[in-house]
Amino acid sequence: MTVHHFLNGKNTEGTSGNFGDIYNPATGEVQYQVALASADDMNKAIADAAAAQPAWGAKNPQVRGRVMMAMVALMNRDMDKLAEALSREHGKTIPDAKGDLQRGLEVVEYCIGAAELLKGDYTGGAGTGIDMYSMRQPLGVVGSIMPFNFPAMMPLWHVAPALACGNAVVLKPSERDPSVPMMLAELFVEAGLPAGVFQVVNGKNEAVDALLDNDTIQGVSFVGSTAVAQYIYSRATANGKRAQCFGGAKNHMIIMPDADMAQAADAIVGAGFGAAGERCMAISVAVPVGEGTGDRLMKELIPRVEKLRVAPYTDGDDVDYGPVITQEAKDRILGLIQSGVDQGADLVIDNRDFKLQGYEKGYFVGPHLFDNVTTDMDIYKTEIFGPVVCSVRADDYETALKMVMDHEYGNGTAIFTRDGDTARDFAARVNIGMVGINVPVPVPLAYHTFGGWKKSMFGDLNQHGPDSFKFYSRTKTVTSRWPSGIKEGGEFHFKAIDD
Ligand code: NAD
Repeated sequence: MTVHHFLNGKNTEGTSGNFGDIYNPATGEVQYQVALASADDMNKAIADAAAAQPAWGAKNPQVRGRVMMAMVALMNRDMDKLAEALSREHGKTIPDAKGDLQRGLEVVEYCIGAAELLKGDYTGGAGTGIDMYSMRQPLGVVGSIMPFNFPAMMPLWHVAPALACGNAVVLKPSERDPSVPMMLAELFVEAGLPAGVFQVVNGKNEAVDALLDNDTIQGVSFVGSTAVAQYIYSRATANGKRAQCFGGAKNHMIIMPDADMAQAADAIVGAGFGAAGERCMAISVAVPVGEGTGDRLMKELIPRVEKLRVAPYTDGDDVDYGPVITQEAKDRILGLIQSGVDQGADLVIDNRDFKLQGYEKGYFVGPHLFDNVTTDMDIYKTEIFGPVVCSVRADDYETALKMVMDHEYGNGTAIFTRDGDTARDFAARVNIGMVGINVPVPVPLAYHTFGGWKKSMFGDLNQHGPDSFKFYSRTKTVTSRWPSGIKEGGEFHFKAIDD
């Protein structure tokens, strides 16, 4: 089987003749192929989107909202099928796959309110006979370049608001798990979206560069690693496009001495190892504060981590997490773990020789827990994006806070404490975009916005919520004068209202 492109309302073969392999991460075998678009394929898809966009953009916003409503129903109808396809390519468990779909679906639900969200402002009588009003209009054709780790949620966070605003969207999913985005595009057509308004072009760098250089594209959204986010942001903005690019993360969780240690340990296990740590909001650094807190935390944490069950999603509901996405990702993670050992951290849970019987060629990485990590080590500085948690002990709260503030990433963070003053101080002072108080993965819901600070985000408007409607539309302000004209001696004069 080959995953092609979804163009003009149907599955369509490209012209490049280039294909990539999609692996089954549990077995290491090639499952099927994905078409890799050429620049010509991309440019044609954009031209067709541009032809389809004006009619869609001219529809009233309630009509676009109704397409979103139908999409919600269709996604719920096909939830099991979508989750199965997602797990098969990505490797995450079925409950995780459903969570991925659900968090995307919630943004589609939010977009049902397009009419409300696109409402403009009005000032009557701004001057003599003068009224002033603003409206939000679509950008035209926008592009989205998405990562592998949430193949349903991430595209939906961008595609749904972009469409609801009246744009046409060209989506370039991750080449590692492109099937669910293709299925979503098909469902949008079934929901009533006109053909050509949502184009899915599969591919890699050549396709992305063509999108970035295409003058028709007005806005670019990117989610992925920081190095690529920075590159996409520079190239898109140099080409005069609006851009929002979300990058990598290293999320710290501070554990104060007064925290409930059992609760904190549960939180670290779920947030650090869930989805094999392949989440931009994963907790990858635990910071126990004060004398003895690190030991108390380890006492709770170690038995929990030892119990984690790593297996393919097909092994049932008690699987905690599955394989990582590729052999390359596995090698990279194991390399970083080795660097932690070499640089002197204590590897208190060591699964470097982890093998799963019957799945020896799969990309499984057992859970790893480091204690006594220091901030100069590579495992502290780098986003590992795997099932590895590092504990860095801090003497006091100020040292812990400074550690979080000094890290180059600023996506998410959390504090576990029973003390309201400390929690409040942390939330107010920390330079991180999303903060949890006794909540390890503080992902804002659809009607708030999601975005990091520092090297976790380039651009200024966040994902979903009101920011997404601002990003995917632009303001036009009209000043109008409708004087009551009178004719005197054949001449036209304005009759001022305040005469
Ligand atoms: P990635 O940067 O490797 O790839 C992301 C996308 O960019 C893919 O579609 C890929 O084909 C494309 N791409 C990669 N290199 C490119 C290049 N040189 N030129 C043009 N296009 C290129 O990221 P990934 O491995 O798919 O995803 C994992 C990363 O995403 C992690 O760093 C994670 O933290 C981050 N992420 C961030 C958020 C957020 O909201 N901040 C959310 C999810 C994931």
